[in-house]
Amino acid sequence: MPDLAGVVRAIADEMRARPDRGEVARYIPELARADPRAFGLAVIDAAGTVAVGGDADVPFSIQSISKVFTLTLALGMIGDRLWRRVGREPSGNPFNSIVQLELERGVPRNPFINAGAIAVTDVILSGHQPREALGEILRFLQALAQDPTITIDEAVAASEKRTGFRNVALANFMRSFGVLDNPVDYTLGVYFHHCAIAMSCRQLATAGRFLAHSGRNPATGYSVVSPERARRINAVMLTCGHYDGSGEFAYRVGLPGKSGVGGGILAIAPGKASIAVWSPGLDAAGNSHLGRIALEALTKRLGWSIFGV
Ligand code: GLN
Repeated sequence: MPDLAGVVRAIADEMRARPDRGEVARYIPELARADPRAFGLAVIDAAGTVAVGGDADVPFSIQSISKVFTLTLALGMIGDRLWRRVGREPSGNPFNSIVQLELERGVPRNPFINAGAIAVTDVILSGHQPREALGEILRFLQALAQDPTITIDEAVAASEKRTGFRNVALANFMRSFGVLDNPVDYTLGVYFHHCAIAMSCRQLATAGRFLAHSGRNPATGYSVVSPERARRINAVMLTCGHYDGSGEFAYRVGLPGKSGVGGGILAIAPGKASIAVWSPGLDAAGNSHLGRIALEALTKRLGWSIFGV
């Protein structure tokens, strides 16, 4: 069995030495400030051993990775009725695409594209004030990561609120079909803020542990979701977690994973480990360029792909 700490350190060193980094997201102006040379990796195995490399303790904007946790919360609130509001098929389109919404009567293809995540946020908001809904999401992440210091980067949230015209369009379009229940600016306010939560690779890998262990966080012994629900969330991550790059991610890495335009990826090796990687440079599909390459190296060296060695 290769030594986990050694593998993680070696991959971090290899990634930091590479000249190819991808492009930092600029459409949310505040994200353009990220250092393209940053690279972090954290792996937590079933025994709770943490292996870290590079900038594993530097917080970054988790962006769409938050959608895994909002999906988990919304399923906890209304169960499988959620699937009336949002589908679970890969979109084959960019994360911010609007084209399929008209054909499918405002029902987004899956909970990880922007439209789908906005519909999920709307479910969490129902019956609450935006501040309460956001507090619920933040406290959920703090509890999972066992770290009450996790916060929202207000500058990132404000930056997206100022420039998120596409998301405003998606939300209004869905509202016109009756897929959203709440005032659009309330739902988007919560959405922009949960995308702006800042976490480090170590915190994110800790928060993802329940998905690697049949819904139960081995550190606390608490069940977060049932084994069946954990399996299904992993399935949606595998098929939809990287937008129109999901096929390539499954082909190269072979794990359920969720990316964000902040350059983070949460990947789950079921039964084995929760993994978080961060490198702000993105590929053409908006997924972390070196993050994917690092995960490909990791799964290959450890034999962790769900499809076999
Ligand atoms: N907050 C971002 C947006 O709505 C999230 C996108 C992403 O991480 N892919 O555009």
